[in-house]
Amino acid sequence: MKPLLPGATIGVLGGGQLGRMMAVTARQMGYRIVVLDPSPRCPTAQVADGFVVGALDDLEAAKHLAKQVDVITLDTEHVPAELLAELELLVPVRPGASVLRTIQDRRVQKEFLDRSGLPQARWAPASSAADLALALEKVGRPAIAKVRRAGYDGKGQVRIDPADDAVAKFAKLRGEPAVVEEVVPFVRELSVVLARGTDGVIATYPIAENVHRKHILHTTRAPAPISSAQRRGAEEIAVVIAAALNHIGVMAVEMFELADGRLLVNEIAPRTHNSGHYTYGACATSQFEQHVRAVCGLPLGDPRALTGAVMVNLLGDLWYLGPPAWEQVLKHPRARLHLYGKDAPAPGRKMGHVVFLDDDTDAALATADALVQGLTPSGA
Ligand code: AMP
Repeated sequence: MKPLLPGATIGVLGGGQLGRMMAVTARQMGYRIVVLDPSPRCPTAQVADGFVVGALDDLEAAKHLAKQVDVITLDTEHVPAELLAELELLVPVRPGASVLRTIQDRRVQKEFLDRSGLPQARWAPASSAADLALALEKVGRPAIAKVRRAGYDGKGQVRIDPADDAVAKFAKLRGEPAVVEEVVPFVRELSVVLARGTDGVIATYPIAENVHRKHILHTTRAPAPISSAQRRGAEEIAVVIAAALNHIGVMAVEMFELADGRLLVNEIAPRTHNSGHYTYGACATSQFEQHVRAVCGLPLGDPRALTGAVMVNLLGDLWYLGPPAWEQVLKHPRARLHLYGKDAPAPGRKMGHVVFLDDDTDAALATADALVQGLTPSGA
């Protein structure tokens, strides 16, 4: 198929911040954007050319969008794969239904990783109390049970410690089919963000080092301080995954690094990723432009880092006493503020982020942490 050039229209399923940042870049490049979301006030709709109101499992609404666009892509992996398969009959969908079928169910994702010979934590499926006993026998305790579908940022997860009543803990998942994993004693978390084009070419960004707080990404530093052997190992895992899935677009692979240097895959995200936000400003081509290029069938851009960078997420907790003191961010010449246009701050909700462009990423991490402390209205 011929590449889609500026002037073409990109449809986005889901109107969150990832869609928004891609839409801003796409429009800058001369593409049109139409988004499907239940809310006309969603972050992407605010910057889009067109909007279709509808839930992400509303086939009629999605078909209505498909008629208006040249290609469809996703803001979230929580769009039913069956719906994508229907849309593929009308217009190219990138990434396609088969990628989503593998990714959006944690069990299927883990089976795919096992089949591909890639390293991951010990795991077992569990849908009932009887399965749970068997699963815990296999993975040991402490363990984490995660719902197979629709969980994110620690939602739909419970930790089962040695002293816990496992069945009672598991019941918190309300009978949802789940997987149980061993708790991995990782020394740090890394992610590889890459893009794969329609020609199969893959461009890999510098490895990101991530710190989570309460299961939500707090900071990303890139490039991660890492040996070249370790970097190659991480890249190879991500490249194998993207190629095996026949993925098109940006993809992120989150990994745990163990004390002995081994890497275990935690999770695959078939879309732009929070740990790739630093690429906007720090790399020659941002993950958002790269995604547009990939889904439009264009050659990929240069992923090279122009500077080191640290990203810190701004969660709704910071709005506790009203809007944060933005002058604290804007006074930093190396800070770049991104806000997502969400009008209902809630604890743990991602409202925006700040990227510090600095080759001294240790200093930038310290500045980022101090900044977030200073922004907390209570000063706590
Ligand atoms: P997830 O939603 O699976 O990406 O989990 C969010 C975060 O929870 C991860 O980035 C880790 O910090 C933590 N986590 C998830 N699974 C495990 C595990 N098996 N062992 C240790 N920590 C985990």
